[in-house]
Amino acid sequence: MTAMSEGLPDCMSCGLCCRKPAGAPEPYPEDIERWAAEGASAIAGRLAGRHGNDCPFLVAGPGFRCSIYPTRPLVCRHFAVGGSACLELRRQAGEEHPSNLRKIGFHR
Ligand code: SF4
Ligand code: SF4
Repeated sequence: MTAMSEGLPDCMSCGLCCRKPAGAPEPYPEDIERWAAEGASAIAGRLAGRHGNDCPFLVAGPGFRCSIYPTRPLVCRHFAVGGSACLELRRQAGEEHPSNLRKIGFHR
């Protein structure tokens, strides 16, 4: 069941999937190769050692967004928006309750 089918937007731009404890992803070799081909190898360097911490490419306000979205890591592309992990992060943060949105840094 997706969030939308529960009456909530699939993505609320809360950034919870990019913040700890989910946190920054560990890139696959394919990501490293793609970034090298794109002249963007610095992305791998900024992610190194960040796994489990807030992703350095998450930018805030209004809502949260990915600053490298077109070339984001494969693990991010595979994260199911509105899927079970997304919903669990939101449930843990109490995001189902609009009054809690500001507590988790959501300020749209
Ligand atoms: S946790 Fe879900 S709702 Fe929040 S930004 Fe990620 S995909 Fe969107
Ligand atoms: S690379 Fe982008 S989508 Fe992936 S965790 Fe960082 S901010 Fe989120």
